[in-house]
Amino acid sequence: MKHKEIPAVEVKGEAEDARVLFVCERCGTALTAPVTRVALPVHAHHHYGHDLLPPLMAPGTYAVDPEPYGPPWRPWSEIGPAEAAARGVYAPVPALSYGEPGAIVIAPGDARGTVLIPERCDGYCQGLDGRDGPNLACERCGRAVATRIDDCSLWQAVWLAPGAVRRLPDDGPNGSSGYDGSARSSADWTEITGDRLGTPPVEPSGAWSPLWPPAVGAALAHLVAASQGAPVAVPDGLMTDVFGHALDALLPPERPGSQVRTAALAGPNLASSPSSPDIVLVPRHPRTGQVWQPPRNTRAAVVPLAAGVWTHLSFQSERSPLPVTGGLPDGVLRDDPLPPHPWTPFRPGSAAFLATLARLPAVRRPWLREIYDRVADRPYDRPF
Ligand SMILES: [Zn+2]
Repeated sequence: MKHKEIPAVEVKGEAEDARVLFVCERCGTALTAPVTRVALPVHAHHHYGHDLLPPLMAPGTYAVDPEPYGPPWRPWSEIGPAEAAARGVYAPVPALSYGEPGAIVIAPGDARGTVLIPERCDGYCQGLDGRDGPNLACERCGRAVATRIDDCSLWQAVWLAPGAVRRLPDDGPNGSSGYDGSARSSADWTEITGDRLGTPPVEPSGAWSPLWPPAVGAALAHLVAASQGAPVAVPDGLMTDVFGHALDALLPPERPGSQVRTAALAGPNLASSPSSPDIVLVPRHPRTGQVWQPPRNTRAAVVPLAAGVWTHLSFQSERSPLPVTGGLPDGVLRDDPLPPHPWTPFRPGSAAFLATLARLPAVRRPWLREIYDRVADRPYDRPF
């Protein structure tokens, strides 16, 4: 059975390859450098640690969040299941945003022509967290147009208010008129398999990359839904470290004679698994948001995974940790540098897990809702 419940965040339409500018809706002042659309990163709204984080978006790119985000927020007690379901949320969440959908996010360095609104510059700790709504105004006409976020634990970003800006083609010397969009016309999977490196899971400090927990947490929600409540077996190694232990903690244990479903990676430039897994983890294209699709005769359920994480899991395990020829010279105790080794077990992001699972219609099934409720009640219990 195909697992079709994948949130629609694909980038659609002719304009996806064009370089554009966003300008103030009221006075036409340019508010961004020329930018090209990419898919909204899966970690966009997820906190990490208590450090200052880098920008969410690469320079020269923008993404659109299809869901409302930011104030005003309404608590679940005011919303109720029917109203939430109409918005594509099928399990209780603490609160839902009733802000405007379609916010546009850019790197702070791509913002132009804005000034801070001093009375809206609150934050929790070392920066701005956007709690008061837009905190940037158009420098020419004073209209509140965007929200700068740069507090610790949050990805640095400028979120343009969709109703306060207009999108224009970039007609500059390197703009749309002279831009060769042919190389970017649709999902080109060699973009993610070209260097086969992907997103390294472990930072030089020994901490897990902040990009991995939300990516794995979101994919884990799809995996648990695709399990149909049965234990799931994944390949040894990093797949077990990041998915296997979490699946063991969330799903019922394997018993003699019980059905076990199998999950494996599948995708571009990857030899297909000889054992026909029940579930395949496939990449979601970072630019178009498209989910890679296995051949039509495959009956496996499809679980989307952030492309950088997928690429690393798919290709880095091919590397041998041993020297190719001979051993180390006499007197040398280790190779240098050693591959980074994490100093804690991996913990998937429970916020990403819950946010994703709440948006899968399957969560209305009692067995899956029980798992959702268990994690929602204790979001830092094992495996999170
Ligand atoms: Zn203006």
